[in-house]
Amino acid sequence: MTSPIWHPFTQHGLGEPIPRIIHNEGAALFTDDGRRIIDAISSWWVTTHGHRHPRIMAAIAAQTAKLDQIIFAGYSHEAAEDVARGLLEILPPALTRVFFSDSGSTAVEVALKMALGFWDNRAEDRSRILVMEHSYHGDTIGAMSVGARGVYNRAYSPLLFDVGTIPYPSDAQVTLDALEAACREHPAAFIVEPLVLGAGGMLIYPASVLAEMRAICARYDVLFIADEVMTGWGRTGTLLACEQAGVVPDILCLSKGLTGGSVPLAVTLASEPIYAAHLSDDRARMFFHSSSYTANPIACAAAAANLEIWREEPVAARIADLSARQAARLAALDHPRVVGKRQLGTIAALDIAVEDEGYLSALGPRLSASFRAANVLLRPLGNTIYVMPPYCIDDADLDAVWAAIAAACDIGKSH
Ligand SMILES: *Cc1c(COP(=O)(O)O)cnc(C)c1O
Repeated sequence: MTSPIWHPFTQHGLGEPIPRIIHNEGAALFTDDGRRIIDAISSWWVTTHGHRHPRIMAAIAAQTAKLDQIIFAGYSHEAAEDVARGLLEILPPALTRVFFSDSGSTAVEVALKMALGFWDNRAEDRSRILVMEHSYHGDTIGAMSVGARGVYNRAYSPLLFDVGTIPYPSDAQVTLDALEAACREHPAAFIVEPLVLGAGGMLIYPASVLAEMRAICARYDVLFIADEVMTGWGRTGTLLACEQAGVVPDILCLSKGLTGGSVPLAVTLASEPIYAAHLSDDRARMFFHSSSYTANPIACAAAAANLEIWREEPVAARIADLSARQAARLAALDHPRVVGKRQLGTIAALDIAVEDEGYLSALGPRLSASFRAANVLLRPLGNTIYVMPPYCIDDADLDAVWAAIAAACDIGKSH
């Protein structure tokens, strides 16, 4: 009997196999038919240290002996306090307030609502959001609205709100001029993925552009929202990608690696003026947002353990080491069809030259099939292949991943 499950971003009509995973550890997934699959994309960009890090698993187990779920409106608990304090210790001091939610998309929705709430509470009529071309911020309606439009949201476009789109910085000056012109019209905020546009194709732009975009927003009092849901937690070589540009956002979204990638949790951090704009004895000015599982204690225990790992284990050294190993393997990949090699920190990406570029490139499914056969979990974005492994991946596994990519370079060659 076929499964009743409707999987995400899956065309069930293609009948592609859906392996059943029964166990995972480090950088490996094990299937019920006895295969070992190398997780080269960190289970969709979430797993940072490795699957089932013992400290995170122990923290989850310990929390289940004390707390499952409690209401977070008007109540608090120790794990949430630990996470909030631990975040303030390692993040820029201008970010003073921590709002919990459950996913990257909701962290973005919260950020957008905070920005509009800020201006509304100050009785200023500013509600327009600026975005960068090719961005991805999640799949809920607001997050889709501030993300790139395409085949993946065409049907829902009547629900999406209008935004101002700044060109991707293939030419930095064009981007900066466009941002400055848009900022003159008093928008509420600019939301951007710092340094790497993930789902848009692992597009990497220079830190200097990020720094200048931040400066322009500051000059025009436009709130700067950094969506570090993917780039956060060391992916780009530093804890935050913003660090590499010396940039501190007004609002910061974190999720994915917040719990080491073990259980769902997200935070949106805000600077004091944004919190202060909502602070009043008037209940009509409060921040009107919650979800049932806000700051779930088990998820918070996992995040607190992740923070402990960052404090006590040589995470930065592991990231530096993986970054160097990725760079070496990317450089060694020599094939006439490989174009656009790029790397930042632990993320390496390349494009396979094809005529039908884009998310629905015919090459994508053929690449996926080839990686499946090699027992490597890679999920090309159209004709773009990227490797974003957990930081614990060893040389043998990393070699196997890059060998699978080299083998896939000849697939679907039209000449
Ligand atoms: C994955 C991602 C999101 C959405 O996070 P979910 O947890 O999948 O909702 C938002 N922004 C960026 C940059 C992401 O990569």
